Amino acid sequence: MSRAAQVLLAVVLAGCGTLSVSDEEDLGVRFEREVRREYRFLGDPVVNQYVTRIGEDILRTMGPQPFEYTFTVVEHPDINAFAGPGGHIYVHTGTIVRTRNVAELAGVIAHEIGHVSHRHVAKNYEKQRAASVGRRAAVIGAGILGGQPAAGAANLLTGVGLAAVLNSFGREDEREADDFAVNALPQAGYDPEGLPSFFETLVAEGGAKVPQFLSSHPAPDERLETTRAAIAAESLPPDLRSDDNGKLEIIQQRIGLLTRGSAQPDRR
Ligand SMILES: [Zn+2]
Repeated sequence: MSRAAQVLLAVVLAGCGTLSVSDEEDLGVRFEREVRREYRFLGDPVVNQYVTRIGEDILRTMGPQPFEYTFTVVEHPDINAFAGPGGHIYVHTGTIVRTRNVAELAGVIAHEIGHVSHRHVAKNYEKQRAASVGRRAAVIGAGILGGQPAAGAANLLTGVGLAAVLNSFGREDEREADDFAVNALPQAGYDPEGLPSFFETLVAEGGAKVPQFLSSHPAPDERLETTRAAIAAESLPPDLRSDDNGKLEIIQQRIGLLTRGSAQPDRR
């Protein structure tokens, strides 16, 4: 890297701290636009409201939050869920139709809220920004040395790529989000067993298509054991909900009708 590029890199990196809450909010709005461009949102108010209500049940256990959380249903058959900056949470229809009860779905949503509230998404954004600045500085440096124009050096991520990078969480982050879910679920009235129970489905799905929800370490079977142990160590209040009197099943059927089977898992 040239001297000029080194100086540029040092200057830009010095400006990288933890993302402020208001910057994260702005970024969340831009992220939402990007995601909307590349994913198809299920624009059904009944399904959206169902998912949002579960999210709000979890949020109520947390006290005042810096972000306005939003919950969006993405029309996609794969099991997946992801978080954007500023409290934007996305759940695939493939996840909703594969959950066996509302506690499992609440577990997935709580896990994603955990990533946002622990600022994991903000941290990943800072990491990728530093990396892309580094890449650009290196290319600019090479350009200066080689006498080539630096134009075209910017290779910033957009849409799906950005969603993937912002959601590539490490072992510690996943554990923290799982811990958050195990604690928040019973406070919201849901059986925390929903989370390990959903991991069983992920384990059964096995290798072929690894959804983002479990793309990083540790493996779902390990998370299944860890979360079960954490739940066993808690003293839980009675009357925790696992199902919601057939509401989830109605939502699942509705998704099936609205997507005419396209949101069903691929069974090749
Ligand atoms: Zn996660």
